[in-house]
Amino acid sequence: MSNGSPTGAGGVRESRSERPAAASTPPGEAPGAGPDGGRDTAFAPAAVEGAGGERLARPGASVARKLLALVIGSALVPALLVGLVSYLTAREILVDKIHGALDARLAACEEHLDLSLARRVEDAEIFANAFIVGATLDASRRAALAGLPEAADSTRQQLRSYLDEVAGRYRLYRELAVVDVDGRTIASTAGAAGGGWRDRLAPTPESRKGVTLETGDGEPLAVVRQAVNAGDGERLGSLIAVGGLEDIWQRLRAEVQPERARLLVVAATGQALFDSAREEGAPPRAVGSEGVRRALVGMQGVAEYRDAGGVEVVASFRYSRLHQLGLVIEQPAGEAFVALTRMRQAVVWISVLATLLVTAIGAFLALNLTRPIDALSEGARLVAAGDLSTEVPATTGDQIGDLTRTFNRMVRTLRESRETLENLSVTDDLTGLYNRRYMRRRLDEELARARRAGQALSILILDLDEFKAFNDLLGHLQGDLFLRRTAEILKAGFRPSDVLSRWGGEEFVAMLPETGKREAARVAERVRAAFEARSPVADLAPRVTISAGLATYPDDGETREELLLNADVALYRAKDLGRNRIEMSSLPRAEEDEG
Ligand code: GH3
Ligand code: MG
Ligand code: MG
Repeated sequence: MSNGSPTGAGGVRESRSERPAAASTPPGEAPGAGPDGGRDTAFAPAAVEGAGGERLARPGASVARKLLALVIGSALVPALLVGLVSYLTAREILVDKIHGALDARLAACEEHLDLSLARRVEDAEIFANAFIVGATLDASRRAALAGLPEAADSTRQQLRSYLDEVAGRYRLYRELAVVDVDGRTIASTAGAAGGGWRDRLAPTPESRKGVTLETGDGEPLAVVRQAVNAGDGERLGSLIAVGGLEDIWQRLRAEVQPERARLLVVAATGQALFDSAREEGAPPRAVGSEGVRRALVGMQGVAEYRDAGGVEVVASFRYSRLHQLGLVIEQPAGEAFVALTRMRQAVVWISVLATLLVTAIGAFLALNLTRPIDALSEGARLVAAGDLSTEVPATTGDQIGDLTRTFNRMVRTLRESRETLENLSVTDDLTGLYNRRYMRRRLDEELARARRAGQALSILILDLDEFKAFNDLLGHLQGDLFLRRTAEILKAGFRPSDVLSRWGGEEFVAMLPETGKREAARVAERVRAAFEARSPVADLAPRVTISAGLATYPDDGETREELLLNADVALYRAKDLGRNRIEMSSLPRAEEDEG
């Protein structure tokens, strides 16, 4: 201490001169890991705080939503629209078909009615052409002209027999009668007075050749009036055939299948002649459905409406001008459109399934596409927060995979250059040992650890002896080479767990964690001896040796400054006592001796 060595003074001054520097470089912001491989997280907190203010929104979620919307929009919506349009088209076709089929059935009924009634007219024609009919009417006319009231009774008798025979053969005729031009009955199967059916019928106009369907209070009847003429063409009278309609109704009933549809045949008066919904034989009643109303005003077509019972029906209606009848066929809409209902259900199910399927596929695609993007953006976030250990797995071979691999390469390069930078910032250029700044920080850290663990920690300040003379004699360049060599010898001398630094000039500080004073002194002595043995000897120059001062936590100080000061004081003492030696700040404790 008495020699006033600048090195020693530097060491003593350390606590004073370095404090502002220490204050300006808080440990948290000092550069990271040293060459000993201890990972330093110093960058991370600062970077995290920096990035904290500008947290990026997660892009993956919104991209996934957009993709899902795209899939649904581009696949599902057009599919559903096409489905809807084809359903509507199919519905139209189906409805047309159902209407057409109903119409065709009604047409078949009308045709059947026409044919049956035409046959009645043919029958009447055949009956009227019998010789006895004309002969009897002629005889009757002559008797009337001759002023004989009841003439040709025998002929009448013959005519009656003829009519009875015919009626016996054709059971559906209620009455067959022959009348003269004045409407008087010449002969009738119902007797001279007639069956009564004829009486209630309105006289048939001459112009309406053929058959009329009439109804009174009871069952409807078909009345055919066939003219009977003399050879000279003169009108003699008529044959009247009054027949029931059971056979026709039976055929129509079979035609419409009453359990599936209802057929109505309505007279122009609105009186129903036939209603397939009523029991066979039951007298028909007046009906006033929409279809009947339209048919009776001469319309023809298909309509949908509610019938008297409130049932939704689809109906075909038409008016027969020939017979002056309204014809209506009604079918419950539910039954008519059963295929349509089934089709609608199928369309709904298919739409629901398609929606589920497309949504599932869309979600799957969106997730698969965005998962690598999510991973990449998460990696970028970590890097932005200062974590350069990030590695994003590149799972796909597409552009995103390429991007991910490039990202990883970039992060690796960044990591390597940061490590290089960190190494540079904590090491000394000349010797490659840690620099003073790094050592100060490690000292603080290791002291804190020792304090927590209740362990010892030793500090050595080493200073080359008479180095100025060496320098003066051999030059600065040789001095530098010697310093480099010194670093190698010291490094080889200390243990791997010890931390060695160039404190400045030809002064070194070694930190020995978890090491008591006695053990530290042993290590120091070994280093000193090794140095003495390996230190090169130059001509004319003095042999360079090394002196050291040793201070140990907690005996020689609680803080870095105290320990460095005490080690420095010990170093001075070593110089004073002749150099090339180790001096301790204080003697080892008794229990250490025992240990
Ligand atoms: P003492 O035994 O008392 O320590 O004597 P000394 O000559 O070593 O004295 P001091 O420690 O005061 O001398 C330090 C000398 O070390 C001064 C300078 O010539 C030399 N030196 C310091 N730093 C460097 C350096 O970086 N390179 C070279 N070549 N020499 C240096
Ligand atoms: Mg010195
Ligand atoms: Mg010296």
